[in-house]
Amino acid sequence: MTEGEAGMAQAVEPRRAASVERWQGESDVLVVGFGSAGVCAASQAARDGAEVLAFERAWQGGGTSAESTGQIYMGGGTPLQRACGFEDDPDEMAKYLEASCGPGADVAKIRLFSERSVEHFHWITDQGIRFDEDVVDYQVSTMPAPGKALSWTGSERAYPFCEIARPAPRGHNVNVDGTPSGELLMRTLIAGAQRAGVRVQPQSDVRRLIVENDGHVVGVEARIDGDLCCFRAHSAVVLATGGFVSNEEMLQRHAPELLRCGRPIAAETSDDGLGIQMGMAAGGETIRMGSACIVLGFAYGNRKNIRGILVNGRGQRYVNEDVYQSLHGEIALLRQDGDVYLIVDDTIYEPNPEDPELGGTTYPLLAVAETVEELEQELGMPDRSLTHTVNVYNENARRGEDPFFHKESCWLQALDTPPFAAIDLRVGKGPYSVFTLGGLRTDSSQQVQTSSGAPVPGLFAAGRTASGIPAQGYNSGLSLADCTFSGRVAGAAAAALRP
Ligand SMILES: Cc1cc2nc3c(=O)[nH]c(=O)nc-3n(C[C@H](O)[C@H](O)[C@H](O)COP(=O)(O)OP(=O)(O)OC[C@H]3O[C@@H](n4cnc5c(N)ncnc54)[C@H](O)[C@@H]3O)c2cc1C
Repeated sequence: MTEGEAGMAQAVEPRRAASVERWQGESDVLVVGFGSAGVCAASQAARDGAEVLAFERAWQGGGTSAESTGQIYMGGGTPLQRACGFEDDPDEMAKYLEASCGPGADVAKIRLFSERSVEHFHWITDQGIRFDEDVVDYQVSTMPAPGKALSWTGSERAYPFCEIARPAPRGHNVNVDGTPSGELLMRTLIAGAQRAGVRVQPQSDVRRLIVENDGHVVGVEARIDGDLCCFRAHSAVVLATGGFVSNEEMLQRHAPELLRCGRPIAAETSDDGLGIQMGMAAGGETIRMGSACIVLGFAYGNRKNIRGILVNGRGQRYVNEDVYQSLHGEIALLRQDGDVYLIVDDTIYEPNPEDPELGGTTYPLLAVAETVEELEQELGMPDRSLTHTVNVYNENARRGEDPFFHKESCWLQALDTPPFAAIDLRVGKGPYSVFTLGGLRTDSSQQVQTSSGAPVPGLFAAGRTASGIPAQGYNSGLSLADCTFSGRVAGAAAAALRP
């Protein structure tokens, strides 16, 4: 732990069990946070026979999960995939996730999730979630499609991933009358948890863990109605309080680049990093704290934008435009210093995209010109840089080829119809939104680990509080998939510790 981290951790230094005069309540398993990870942890633990008490800071559960679009990444041959005519198997799914969630992807977690994905689909639907089996978006390769039950929500069809694993759509979308709904997802999961017998303590803000002298986590201290109350866990505590994108100090320390994006994706009561800090103070290690989902949704509302080209400030293409939007965000921010532009011609540009607000997206128009040369000058790019890029791109596109970046042929078209335009995707101008992926290090049962790899006794973490399946790269739906699945794994392991 660095000096700074030690300082932060001290703020949430665990309380010694011996100092507790009165336990306000007790349960086998205590779950902190009632978003998708917490509710699934609680539900699974209760289904496995444990008595469960969940704490939620807000007046009701839901967290960021309830504000989400409700896409869950599942595959390996789910009934919905099969009903829609797609072949998939756990091995292909795992190969894709290993390639797209690296470098440093947690292979054991990916394998476990891929192997159990069909079973997870049934668990989710058993809670009451329905996916319409007759609707699928066959056409669109990269964007989530509102109203569709199954869609492509990653880079599966894009190079190089399409050569690594057989592509299949894996975004399972929870919809209400065709509108994506994380709210319905959470309402249904919460009702399932209540049916399983989970007790929820709303408006209770857990401030620190309670430990025995040997470091064993045995409870939590929560602020309820202004009072600090202690609760005892007979088996274990599960931390599921979200990530840390709303904690500026932690971002400054671990992921300063994200502060340039200025558009955190988080509910008001979530993602302040406190859960991660509590876990650290109890001896847990944090990993991949610099990694994040960085969405650069330049084609929401106008999918034709994928037919344009993305260039950096030197007028050079740097990526195939049909990879998924979070890979775009990562590459643009971290490898191109956030200095990127979308170049389109008149056949592509739409002044008022159909749905510019989806994902909070807008497309700032930076320059318009009758020729590419003039556009290049207006953008202040080096002489003949953009012109050369467009000429070469057009020549290849007319042959249906993209030998540099291998964009799928359905997105290839020459940019030759004036006027030409540059859409401003520089960080600070374009639509970048972020949430953190780093968090507590856990083993495959979601038990928190120390820096030496030893388990922290009695402590589990799930969802964005832990580093999970989306270790580095991200595909849409993977956070809710990881949260719901890691929550279940943590809940089962915590319940299994019952005396
Ligand atoms: C607009 C939007 C769209 C998105 N769409 C998708 C999508 O379609 N698919 C996808 O996979 N991901 C999506 N995401 C991201 C995803 O929603 C989150 O990463 C995920 O929901 C995090 O879940 P969680 O359980 O870890 O945290 P949360 O859902 O935020 O739950 C944490 C809970 O803990 C509570 N809490 C926090 N601290 C404490 C404390 N100290 N004591 C007690 N309670 C506490 C919070 O109030 C909250 O209820 C989207 C996010 C947004 C905002």
